[in-house]
Amino acid sequence: MNILVLGSGGREHTFAWKIAQSNLCKQLFVAPGNSGTEAIATNLNISVTDFEAIKKAVIQNHIALVVVGPEDPLVQGIHDFFLQDEAIKHVKVIGPQMAAAELEGSKEFAKKFMMRHNIPTAAYESFTKDNVEEGYKFLETLNPPYVLKADGLAAGKGVLILNDLNDAKTELKHMLVDAKFGAASTKVVIEEFLDGIELSCFVLTDGKDYKVLPTAKDYKRIGEGDTGLNTGGMGAVSPVPFATKDFLDKIENRIVKPTVEGLKKDNLPYIGFIFIGLIKVGDDPKVIEYNVRMGDPETEVVLPRLKTDLVEIFQAMGNQTLSQINIEIDERAATTIMLVSGGYPEAYEKGKEISGIENIEDSIVFHAGAKKQDGKVITSGGRVMAITSYGNTHQEAIKKSYQSIENLHFDKMYYRKDIGFDL
Ligand code: ATP
Repeated sequence: MNILVLGSGGREHTFAWKIAQSNLCKQLFVAPGNSGTEAIATNLNISVTDFEAIKKAVIQNHIALVVVGPEDPLVQGIHDFFLQDEAIKHVKVIGPQMAAAELEGSKEFAKKFMMRHNIPTAAYESFTKDNVEEGYKFLETLNPPYVLKADGLAAGKGVLILNDLNDAKTELKHMLVDAKFGAASTKVVIEEFLDGIELSCFVLTDGKDYKVLPTAKDYKRIGEGDTGLNTGGMGAVSPVPFATKDFLDKIENRIVKPTVEGLKKDNLPYIGFIFIGLIKVGDDPKVIEYNVRMGDPETEVVLPRLKTDLVEIFQAMGNQTLSQINIEIDERAATTIMLVSGGYPEAYEKGKEISGIENIEDSIVFHAGAKKQDGKVITSGGRVMAITSYGNTHQEAIKKSYQSIENLHFDKMYYRKDIGFDL
């Protein structure tokens, strides 16, 4: 079958890389894609939220399966758009319908869902500009640090964690009254601070059954020792060493099962990935957030460990026969290190030529903010490429990635030198 992947990051290059290995894939398209996807698929110059253009491309290229990488098209209803159009109704879309995508699109919706289905998460209240005073009072009942979350999508920047009560009140006012995050902060969720180690769990569901994929942990801050500004992710490892069998069972029984059951009970149609952001408080997992798609750079370490044919899995998801699939996982560890443009996540320059990719032997290079121009690969974004390696231990995999990186170069290239050193 012909397949279309939507997106242009390292995550989508990884999807394309895995899909291209399947005999079930005849022709592979990526929209808009990057220099990495261009080497293994046909890039289509279409935005991920231009549904009409996507429809045209799907018809023209006889596409039977669409894999949605990022959240925006899902929250904007791409799956519903396909179902409502006779010409493309038959095409299987991997990604939830709009109603279920609210799990990521609205933090309050996600919190209410978790409360309704007894899924462990931080206590919370939500506020609008009409009851900002009550918000101040609620903050006074909490212990620091204070966690304020813009309800809507804010490109990963809508969560503020503040140590001082007065700062928290000021920020709450900025968010609600001064629209600090635009429409995304019309509502703000204030929640109890959870102290613990973070990890992520990835689940596939066809709306009836589910399969759990390996855990991963990402490194969000720009600086070593997890310092400095938040980024889209500077590296990731899989599996997460502290996620013991006992802990994974708790995640599955207390969180994954009730989540999938909850979707069914609430009539929220879901065919796709569920990314569950967790925090280990003592010995217990609690949910920080749901994302309705895979993470980036977690995909770059989770999919390389999947041995099962991904297209076979997607087909089963589309046909609601996921229960018949046997998910096989590579026992080896996988790690990835993100190369970024100097200055990122603040202002940075683009258009730098990347050299040395052809010399990499022991790692997989997943392109992210990189594009092909005049036969050269040049930088086109903040996060440029993810260097993934396998190893019998995390340390072995990490070492390989760092050795591979020594071959790579672009002007002002930066990466963290401590990924996985805390394991
Ligand atoms: P992302 O960039 O992961 O999409 P987001 O904007 O959707 O982030 P969250 O994942 O809910 O927001 O929160 C961002 C980060 O803030 C979390 O990864 C975690 O480190 C921290 N955080 C969120 N909620 C809490 C909490 N209740 N207690 C402690 N830390 C928290």
